[in-house]
Amino acid sequence: MAIRDSFKRALEDLRISVTDRCNLRCLYCMPLAEYDWVERRELLTFEEIERLARLFISLGAQKICLTGGEPLLRREIEVLARKLARLPGLGDLSLTTNGVLLADHATTLREAGVKRINVSLDTLKPERFRQIAQRGELEKVLAGIEAARLAGFKPIKINSVIERGVNDDEIPDLVEFARANGYTVRFIEYMDVGNANHWKLDRVVTKSEIVKRISARYAVEPAGREDASAPADNFRFLDGKGEFGVVASVTEPFCRACTRARLTADGNLVTCLFSDCGHDLKGLMRAGASDETITGRIREIWKKRADRFSEERFEAMKSPEGYQPEGRRKIEMIVLGG
Ligand code: SAM
Ligand code: SF4
Ligand code: SF4
Repeated sequence: MAIRDSFKRALEDLRISVTDRCNLRCLYCMPLAEYDWVERRELLTFEEIERLARLFISLGAQKICLTGGEPLLRREIEVLARKLARLPGLGDLSLTTNGVLLADHATTLREAGVKRINVSLDTLKPERFRQIAQRGELEKVLAGIEAARLAGFKPIKINSVIERGVNDDEIPDLVEFARANGYTVRFIEYMDVGNANHWKLDRVVTKSEIVKRISARYAVEPAGREDASAPADNFRFLDGKGEFGVVASVTEPFCRACTRARLTADGNLVTCLFSDCGHDLKGLMRAGASDETITGRIREIWKKRADRFSEERFEAMKSPEGYQPEGRRKIEMIVLGG
């Protein structure tokens, strides 16, 4: 039975973070070398994740995305994917990865029942990759994307966070890369997630700027959203060579249609990407709560949900005082699962 929050938004999508660890240190996400990592015994087990996923599905969730940190660092991730893919009522199982380890996992993930793969790729220049991600190699990511293509994943979505002065000059090249290989690129406006990335509004390349730059080279037309709650606004290339999307969380916030719940690696339910706290479901489970008690708790949390952080940010941006990103403590993205 679908549940609705205080703005009548249903709970339709669940993003599950399977680890807070990452093998990269992207400056816009996880810039520091060390964090207060979740201890191993605090991580949800696969059985616990499967149980919670089943309960979320019973409350109306239709799509699950595995994320992190870097989800491919979680040992035997395919075993979890297989368990989730089998759950009755689940319409879509996807995974969002930085691609570094994807070449080793693409085939097994597909066999396990993962339907779609999203790969983060912010640059096609090896040196710049190293500057942005601080670790790892671009070559591995490109090999990972190719492996996913060969494994039969379609569509493959490429996520590119664009930051002014860092990689905005590569927007057309990323578009060309995607068009040439049959991928869909989604440009993501740089957001003030977490507390450590020193976000500044003037670093955000807006959706209208992105679309303008692409339109200077290609004829495009608006194609709308995949569905009402999809974060990306899409544009179609008039020559028939696919689409690109823009996730405009900063300049065109879409909180009104946000149907997304997040489960952290240590078992907290988080109702917004910009929340400052979560709700402990693992504790309930480990104390022996029944399915009814847990669904009751999720229902109660969701009913009270009134998050609309990106809309509030947008309103503050337009106010005389402007928006002060330091004014609010948030959970780091690696913890809550981006
Ligand atoms: N490690 C995986 C990856 O990079 O795809 C999955 C987790 S990552 C947190 C999920 C997505 O969040 C990535 O596409 C990443 O680019 C995006 N992201 C991280 N920090 C961001 C920021 N400050 N603004 C916009 N998107 C961000
Ligand atoms: Fe790691 Fe993904 Fe964050 Fe980059 S964006 S630091 S790959 S979790
Ligand atoms: Fe959803 Fe929060 Fe993002 Fe708004 S800011 S779209 S409520 S996650």
